[in-house]
Amino acid sequence: MDGDFDSELAELAALTAAHLRHELDMANPFLPRVPAPELASQEAPISAESVGTEPVAAEPVAAEPVAAEPVATPMVQAPSTQAPSTQAPSAQAPSAQAPSVPDDPATALRVIQARAAECTRCRLHEGRTKSVFARGSLSATVMFVGEGPGYHEDQQGVPFVGRAGQLLDKMIGAMGLGADEFYICNVVKCRPPENRTPTPDEAAACLSYLEAQIEHVAPRVIVALGRHAAHNLGVGDGRWRGRWGTFQGIDVMPTYHPAFLLRSPEQKRPVWQDLQAVLTKLGREVPTR
Ligand code: SF4
Repeated sequence: MDGDFDSELAELAALTAAHLRHELDMANPFLPRVPAPELASQEAPISAESVGTEPVAAEPVAAEPVAAEPVATPMVQAPSTQAPSTQAPSAQAPSAQAPSVPDDPATALRVIQARAAECTRCRLHEGRTKSVFARGSLSATVMFVGEGPGYHEDQQGVPFVGRAGQLLDKMIGAMGLGADEFYICNVVKCRPPENRTPTPDEAAACLSYLEAQIEHVAPRVIVALGRHAAHNLGVGDGRWRGRWGTFQGIDVMPTYHPAFLLRSPEQKRPVWQDLQAVLTKLGREVPTR
């Protein structure tokens, strides 16, 4: 009798603990129960040390939708020939994958990063301090793609280093991804003035850099951060958030941008669901600690 009661009690305690764990996860999805990973080492000038060193208050953030699901706009096309440097840019620009780019991913991306640093394909080069290429691991399984650099990113030449970047690191930490499992970049490599959304021709001029990054890193999943990134990865139509698509044959999960989550923290829950879907796609357990 006592044995039955003890076993029922133990079963009840286990169920209660599991329920509480689930509730806690949903209420605080980005709490760093698994510490945010250290940045993977990468070739200079992609600096790992700069993350989290920026002041928190003054970061200008990219415009993100605040309320209703945004309306879709056409996806930009990959550029192919050179555009003038000081005129309104055309979608015609040379490929970042010129024949001289080596096959080795690390070397190839260094060459392409150097090209982006001196690129004048679109008007965004006129206001940049530094072009912003990437941070993370070249052997990443998950690539996070945002819209474009903000103020701090432009100053440091590293993507997602302000408040939004700190939140993205928490999201990555909550997923349990290790330092060698993620890679972060943007659709455009130069900061748009006043953090405005890049125009379609600017995104088109820059797209071959992103395509080269995807080709050489070859992630298993891409997470598109925000409506603009989703559009440029072909998954921004209709009710875009949380709906799987593909780009260059790679699964793409579109979700909200961390800058949007800073203004609308109640949206963390659906974003966490999207990140859980990514983990499931990768065949990984969803962290519950
Ligand atoms: Fe070149 Fe891209 Fe910068 Fe435009 S945003 S100047 S295409 S690197």
